[in-house]
Amino acid sequence: MQVGWLSKRLKRARNFYLGLVVVASLFFAIGNPLSVTAENPSSLPPPKVHPLPPSLAKLSPDLKAGDYFDQIQSTPVGYLIWSEFPIKVYLDRPPEKDDSSASYRRFQQWTEAVLQAIADWNVYLPLREVKDIQQADILIQRLEPPLGRKIDPATGRIEIPRARTAQTRYQFYSTKTDPPLLSTRMTIQIKPGLSPTATLAAIRHELGHALGIWGHSPVEADVLFYSQTKKSPPISTRDVNTLIRIYQQSTQLGWPLAKS
Ligand SMILES: [Zn+2]
Repeated sequence: MQVGWLSKRLKRARNFYLGLVVVASLFFAIGNPLSVTAENPSSLPPPKVHPLPPSLAKLSPDLKAGDYFDQIQSTPVGYLIWSEFPIKVYLDRPPEKDDSSASYRRFQQWTEAVLQAIADWNVYLPLREVKDIQQADILIQRLEPPLGRKIDPATGRIEIPRARTAQTRYQFYSTKTDPPLLSTRMTIQIKPGLSPTATLAAIRHELGHALGIWGHSPVEADVLFYSQTKKSPPISTRDVNTLIRIYQQSTQLGWPLAKS
């Protein structure tokens, strides 16, 4: 059940990460769906700051390296911040059989790149693979992201952008716990058929978005650089500094919803 749609085209995004589409929807397990821009905002929790995750609190960041926090966008419910760890990740895996076909090997390479990116980010925020898709906080699919279309307001023509390689979307929902919490679920789609290096670069970048870095760096050496590069840079000090600043902000995510 999708309710509020929110589409944003990042000004400077182009090429590889062209047109990050933000799909936001808010739905409740019981009762009528509410839009994020809400007719009834009173049921949403007030924004508050969560304690800094221990995995970030124990770091001694190199502040001289700087950050790109000024490029990070908030959402209708505040910054995208996880507060329950480990964050549960479901990823597509090839079917379990002894298969030496080229397509099977390519799927395996895709999976290995995804696992590498998960291990890289796990240093900063704990992540754990789950086999049950229903439990996933972050879902990673081996799928070509759909082409977004938008109407040019000046001409009325439909624009179809170039094919995307990767995309991350978020969706808000209320947990079935007592009390229910406002939570989010991320869906990452990474196209099959990229080289292992390009797959690793793409998934590292998209996982950064899914962990809360909802914006792009202007510096090429950062994982969240807005454009595709030939290299696959490791997570930089600036990426980590930005992540820490995001997790120091207030959010409505992870806090109890008022009972209606
Ligand atoms: Zn991006």
